Amino acid sequence: MANADVAVIGGGIHGCSAALNLARRGLKVIVLERDRVGRHASSANAGGVRTLLRHEAEIPLALEARKIWHDIARDVGEDCGYHTTGQVAVAETEAVLDDLAARHGRLQDLGYDHEELIDARTLKELVPGIAQNVLGGLVARGDGAASPFHATRAFRRAAEAEGVHIHEAAQVSRLEQAGSGWRVHWNGTSADVGTVVNTAGAWGDRVAAMVGETIALSWFLPMMMVTGRVERFLDPVVINTSRPLSFKQMPNGTLLIGGGRPAQGDREKMTYRLDVKGLRASAQTVCDLFPLLQDAPIVRAWAGFEGRFEDDIPVIGPSRVAKGIFHAFGFCGHGFQLSPIVGRLMAELVTEGKTSLPIDGFAVDRFDAAPNSHAPASRPQENPGH
Ligand SMILES: Cc1cc2nc3c(=O)[nH]c(=O)nc-3n(C[C@H](O)[C@H](O)[C@H](O)COP(=O)(O)OP(=O)(O)OC[C@H]3O[C@@H](n4cnc5c(N)ncnc54)[C@H](O)[C@@H]3O)c2cc1C
Repeated sequence: MANADVAVIGGGIHGCSAALNLARRGLKVIVLERDRVGRHASSANAGGVRTLLRHEAEIPLALEARKIWHDIARDVGEDCGYHTTGQVAVAETEAVLDDLAARHGRLQDLGYDHEELIDARTLKELVPGIAQNVLGGLVARGDGAASPFHATRAFRRAAEAEGVHIHEAAQVSRLEQAGSGWRVHWNGTSADVGTVVNTAGAWGDRVAAMVGETIALSWFLPMMMVTGRVERFLDPVVINTSRPLSFKQMPNGTLLIGGGRPAQGDREKMTYRLDVKGLRASAQTVCDLFPLLQDAPIVRAWAGFEGRFEDDIPVIGPSRVAKGIFHAFGFCGHGFQLSPIVGRLMAELVTEGKTSLPIDGFAVDRFDAAPNSHAPASRPQENPGH
């Protein structure tokens, strides 16, 4: 038995971040990862570090996370490929521009000034290659992008340096109560722990079911494409809300195209098939917004499993049925940016029973309430893809 204070189930970036922060608070932590660390959403993602267009419940967390990203090497010892490039949401129609302006007004009323409404001229200064018909948009100048693979590896290494034991190819199959804590079973072995942190991503509901808790998680498979290298022409990440798109030029010149159009797959078998029509639609949006890219060659496409809740924000907080079980999963296609702060909040929750930022909006029992008291679903222009 490898007994510990805490078992973290799921070795994605959220599991590694939670483990790191728990270990920094002096706890003995093990991470159990069915596959290998970062195998799923945490390295398949686009690396977008975006506060722009966040659901209102996520804004305080996203702003705090962004501060950590700005100085990420201090936190995890490596720069994670992070760059502040800004992120821009563009409006192709008057209706979208009106929506973005209304959002900007709402955020100002709430006291937030991280999003700036810009006209077509300012947009063209920020994104010189953009098509002439684009009318303006919203920019978050302090946003950016990082390398998901390097970031997940950095969180893992930092956690291990704090004494966290990471077990790969360790599929947790059962949780049973043992004294005041839990016995965690995997691959014919087990450990007794005081607390379990469930960061099992698109499979988080399966882990919750092991303690008798039903959580209405669905899942999807956002797709990504990358082109060959083209001459540098783009600094900020570009988002389109009316035709889903997230688009960036990487430091090596390649273009990363995503935005949430899904592949089809089987979550249990962990297999998927890309939707070529969806990929073509995303490529077409890029060519419409950036006519100079008509001939850029696509070299690779992929997808990743991601958990999703109906209101498009994750579950973060204690189980409603089992003491000593804490959840942080279902990040709906935009959890990479939140990982440094959610790990800290999970460590606060486990060790102090409270958090320094509000997490009420992410409570697991929000789905039990009467329909008209649910946490509000995200508005059409919020949390677009990633
Ligand atoms: C294509 C794509 C693009 C994205 N782009 C962005 C972006 O630009 N910006 C952004 O902020 N977010 C983005 N996201 C979302 C982001 O990647 C995820 O929200 C984040 O990585 C979730 O991390 P995680 O650790 O919760 O999940 P995961 O990385 O999926 O980790 C969960 C782990 O749990 C393990 N597991 C499950 N069940 C068990 C079990 N029983 N026992 C042991 N281990 C188990 C799995 O094997 C998995 O490795 C994107 C997602 C995708 C798929």
